[in-house]
Amino acid sequence: TEIRDLLLSRIRDVPDYPTPGVLFKDITPLLADPAAFAALTGALADLCARTGATKVVGLEARGFILGAPAALRAGLGFIPVRKAGKLPGATLSQSYDLEYGSAEIEVHAEDLAAGDRVMVIDDVLATGGTAEASLRLIRRAGAEVAGVAVLMELGFLGGRERLVPALDGAPLEAL
Ligand code: 5GP
Repeated sequence: TEIRDLLLSRIRDVPDYPTPGVLFKDITPLLADPAAFAALTGALADLCARTGATKVVGLEARGFILGAPAALRAGLGFIPVRKAGKLPGATLSQSYDLEYGSAEIEVHAEDLAAGDRVMVIDDVLATGGTAEASLRLIRRAGAEVAGVAVLMELGFLGGRERLVPALDGAPLEAL
């Protein structure tokens, strides 16, 4: 489709970043193009409306850049899920495995509660580990998952296969 082609044309492939052999998908050209950025945030906001989301969770750090304008356009509050140690208030935290070692993400406990329907937004779905951990956080807070929306998924890393069982029927949309 037209929007898909526009978005794809604004993503830059950077070889050997951050380590040799990795082809990094750089979204900064898209952010610098107001037409593409507006098309993306508009599509994310539409998805929030279609799924009946009541809050948007953005995953640090690029999920903040996409999730905050999408939340505003949808008329919803924005909740940051951050790497461990960054949030000042009482948090829920969730650790998850990486290829080497583990990582931990956190959310302010008071930001999510029973009755909330949460759309998770990030730029790239790779292995799906970060998104899956965020779903755990949301449910542990008593809230419901409206879906996961990303700009793009790296299909060969199997993130969708990992995430779908954790979604319980909620949609995973890669624009
Ligand atoms: P995962 O947990 O799915 O393996 O990794 C997803 C996280 O890593 C996302 O927060 C995403 O921002 C980041 N990430 C992994 N690969 C890429 C990439 O090629 N480009 C960008 N922009 N982010 C990536």
